Amino acid sequence: MPTIKQLSASVVNKIAAGEVIERPASVVKELLENSIDAGATRVDVRLEAGGRELIRVTDNGCGIAADELMLAVSNHATSKITSADDLFEVGTMGFRGEALASIAEVSRTLLRTRTPQSESGAELRVNGGVASEVQPAGCPVGTTIEVRDLFFNTPVRQRFLRTPQTEIGHATEAFVRIALAHPQVHCRLEHGQREVHDLPPTDDWRARIAALFGDELADSLIEVESVDPPISLKGFAANPQYSRANNRLQYLFLNGRNIRDRALQHALGEAYRGLLLTGRYPICFLRFDMPASLADVNVHPTKLEVRFQDGGRLYSQLLSTLRSKFLSSDLRAGPGGGGVSPTREEDEVASGPSEIVEWAKQQLTQRRFDGPESPTPAPRQASQPLVMHRLPGPFKPFPADGPTRFASADSSTAPVSRTQDAPAEMEATLEPEAQAPMVGSKALQLHNRYLVVETDHGMEIIDQHALHERILYEQIRAKVSAEGLETQSLLVPEPVDLTSEEAAAVIEHQPLLKKLGVAVEPFGGDTVLVSSYPAMLANLPPREVLGEIVERLVAADRLPEASDLLDELLHTVACKAAVKYGDRLTPDEITALLEHRHLTENHHHCPHGRPTALVFSCDDLDKQFKRI
Ligand code: ADP
Ligand code: MG
Repeated sequence: MPTIKQLSASVVNKIAAGEVIERPASVVKELLENSIDAGATRVDVRLEAGGRELIRVTDNGCGIAADELMLAVSNHATSKITSADDLFEVGTMGFRGEALASIAEVSRTLLRTRTPQSESGAELRVNGGVASEVQPAGCPVGTTIEVRDLFFNTPVRQRFLRTPQTEIGHATEAFVRIALAHPQVHCRLEHGQREVHDLPPTDDWRARIAALFGDELADSLIEVESVDPPISLKGFAANPQYSRANNRLQYLFLNGRNIRDRALQHALGEAYRGLLLTGRYPICFLRFDMPASLADVNVHPTKLEVRFQDGGRLYSQLLSTLRSKFLSSDLRAGPGGGGVSPTREEDEVASGPSEIVEWAKQQLTQRRFDGPESPTPAPRQASQPLVMHRLPGPFKPFPADGPTRFASADSSTAPVSRTQDAPAEMEATLEPEAQAPMVGSKALQLHNRYLVVETDHGMEIIDQHALHERILYEQIRAKVSAEGLETQSLLVPEPVDLTSEEAAAVIEHQPLLKKLGVAVEPFGGDTVLVSSYPAMLANLPPREVLGEIVERLVAADRLPEASDLLDELLHTVACKAAVKYGDRLTPDEITALLEHRHLTENHHHCPHGRPTALVFSCDDLDKQFKRI
């Protein structure tokens, strides 16, 4: 029979610490929150080795009285609330009274502090939860907390730490969230010899956003504001021309606290519905202010999630505020409203990078010459480049079991066996519909979006963009499989500005990027230098190419396979080069597109898995018309 024993205080504390302190970023967050609560107007954060060796936060706040110092590091000791009722009126960042105790439990911590009332300061060392005596110390008013050797006494936790670059990425993100919530506080972050951020105090939120994310993004922001007493919503939503492949640039704040809230994120997605491409996420910086009693912040140990008394009301407020703002804005215009040229995504969606488009068109028109003349279009030619064993080197962009994200489409193994085993004469019978002779003559373009085609047994409605995208995707993929990935060195390496988290991810995954033909090096700050990248992407700006990959790297829970990333790039190219929903096609282009369809594997789905065509048989139609 196992006996039940009371755990020692040290074990209890370590369990508690595990909830609050997961990695250096958690320490940064808790210490910064304490500095903010202490009324600091300036906070300096210094990290070494990704925060593993040292995290030091210095503030000019109210300090801690020498006789309370010991209390500050003991569990459940706080100056911020006294009764349980206070829990529903929390006006400070902290209130649980466990951060300092937790940090001190799993590190070597030094606190040095002085209140304005006291002549001199005091210091206290705590080593893995064991405190020494409070000593007098000379120091300015405010508090410095130094955390060394995080998790030195909890080796399991320590093993979970990732590389310094990854940890610094997380720590920087923690810093950014607090710096965004408190623009009036001067915030500085240093890592080793490098100054990551130095953010002067400001009353202008946009200025703080610009200092963190660059002027280009900040200038594109649309200001939004609404009041539904007692709740106010203020902030910025990015022009839909700017978007991301993940939701990391969606910053939501509640009473100065950064929060995560799925319902509000969903409201955002709804507000941008129809304005962004599938898979893109809006960017926003929004702050809700309301009486503290309308939200419960005590539902999550790190206080990241909150529970609203009336979440539905917030949802509607967010949605309607953004919607009405968008309806009254000229979204194609720049921030000045003066019809500034569209940028980035919008631009490409509208016209595509010209050379790729040219190339794509060429691919289409070429078919016109070897298409109609030959009764059997050359299916072998179409499937041949998909042979996988031709791939040079150890890098296989398409493993034999096919890109996993196309589970719904046929596996890419089929073309291999076909090319290897199927005799040419068989191929004509493989796709009977390939011989349907009425292409062009009986195809009709509807609303510059859909092609309606008569087939042997009925009719089909084809999504022109989806189909073209699928065709191009197969072609580019075939080319890459056959010829390998050609890379191109840039004459002048191009610096690309990233967020710290992204820069960290890029540097950490240099070898993976190399496999994709993207050579990058650190270039100081959060800037990296791109010196080569895939030739097939020659017409996309390097920052865009890198951006696509990086967003995937950062968004992924685990490291994506090189093949998946390459696949992603191929999709990007195909999507950008394909005719658009809304493009008027010439009869020749329609003919070429339809012919190509039969030469393409998996043409029934676009690379995103959407169907490219809807099929109606004569039977279906007859039934609908009650003939049978
Ligand atoms: P909480 O923030 O939830 O109260 P902490 O463990 O983070 O709990 O801090 C315990 C107490 O130590 C705080 O309530 C506060 O009184 C004091 N304290 C911590 N950091 C600072 C600081 N930088 N300046 C002034 N007082 C601080
Ligand atoms: Mg705290």
